Amino acid sequence: MTYLIEGETGDWEVVIGLEVHAQIVSEAKLFSGAATEFGAEPNSQVSLVDAAMPGMLPVINEVCVEQAVRTGLGLEAEINLHSVFERKNYFYPDLPQGYQISQFLNPIVGEGIIHLDMPEGPREIGVERLHMEQDAGKSLHDQDPKRTYIDLNRSGVALMEIVSKPDLRSPEEAGAYMRKLRAILRYLGTCDGNMEQGSLRCDANVSVRHPGEELRTRAEIKNINSVRFVMQAIEHEAERQVEVYESGGDVVQETRLYDPNKGETRSMRSKEEAHDYRYFPDPDLLPLDITQEYVDAIKSGLPELPDAKKERFISDFELAPEDAAVLVADKDSAEFFEALAEGRNAKLAANWVIHELFAVLNKEGKSIAESQVNADDLGKLIDLISDDTISGRIAKDVFEVMVSDGGDPAKIVEEKGLKQITDTGEIETMVDQLIADNPDQAQQYKDGNEKVAGWFVGQAMKASQGKANPQMVNELLKKKLG
Ligand code: MN
Repeated sequence: MTYLIEGETGDWEVVIGLEVHAQIVSEAKLFSGAATEFGAEPNSQVSLVDAAMPGMLPVINEVCVEQAVRTGLGLEAEINLHSVFERKNYFYPDLPQGYQISQFLNPIVGEGIIHLDMPEGPREIGVERLHMEQDAGKSLHDQDPKRTYIDLNRSGVALMEIVSKPDLRSPEEAGAYMRKLRAILRYLGTCDGNMEQGSLRCDANVSVRHPGEELRTRAEIKNINSVRFVMQAIEHEAERQVEVYESGGDVVQETRLYDPNKGETRSMRSKEEAHDYRYFPDPDLLPLDITQEYVDAIKSGLPELPDAKKERFISDFELAPEDAAVLVADKDSAEFFEALAEGRNAKLAANWVIHELFAVLNKEGKSIAESQVNADDLGKLIDLISDDTISGRIAKDVFEVMVSDGGDPAKIVEEKGLKQITDTGEIETMVDQLIADNPDQAQQYKDGNEKVAGWFVGQAMKASQGKANPQMVNELLKKKLG
């Protein structure tokens, strides 16, 4: 479905490009050996380089280079064997160097692709580039007394800035892009994707136009820290711009901030142009030259990524494409499912993960890594269904107990007496009783009313509290009345 905003001058299309800052998984910073652990005491992870002491020289951290190349390969992008670090000059209290070391004209990664599965069909979103750069420190504002403190723990931490082409056309596509990019980064192990902790931050460039027109002026919404907020911010900003144009005004190029509480974007400052930053190659660092062999070695060690995994789940496990997509969207879910499906009915396993386990996790706001039921125990439960020890209905009750109290499903079945009744004698007695108690229905059954068969099975399940084996009930009914 095309996302259009109706206006008096016609429909408006939204054009979105995303710039994502992804913190590289590395124990040390981009140009220093200081630690990068989240949540440490302020200013406890700061080397002399990060504090910009005079005479200190940056030294490139090879792990970060490898991670950037790995990410580029995961985005099906061209890797540039020659790249250059440049200084991006600006003043801010949390930037002691007075410049950020970044890459500008020659980034390490060029054009790539991210594939999206949208309800209306597949979409290919272009990646413009990926470059490495340093993060800045953090200003902490105190109200009483009114002071600002600087924490340099984040100063110099390695980031990948991943820039998309302006290919996105709706808040939904932007949300899908963020989720897909985060999944790829997590599969690769190059960024933990944790938006709440700021390891993944998004700037959204938004403009509107009548379909078919040239691109108009864009506004940049800075530092959005959740996928939901990215989508909301774009929606509000697009509507604001349409209003500006429709009331005869012009959108100005500027940096804006999204306020989720008020559901609006606000102007922060007029947008700088690249030349305002006086980029120039950092004289303290040599150009970064890597070899094709180095890239190939990283390529040969890439893990299976979500798109490939989805195809394999469809072909090997015969899963429906929608189910496969849900399972591979998150690396932990995919691994959980694979462990569960091993040697079992994969479709049944997929159903249990998607419909039962995810329902519980969603309700409790937990990730699959925090699940109280592990793949081992859920597997045992599925085995009990497969070998007819319990019915699918009873299994749901057992699962509830596993969720609330934990424990081995076989033990729960034993303790609560939930075993399926497969004893022919016991079921026969039950069926005889039902026939004797309901002569009318028995007659209807004999007259060939098939619905009544279902009614009898329902009664038998009720009488046995769900424990009668429905197939056996059916067979006995047929034998006695058919
Ligand atoms: Mn940047």
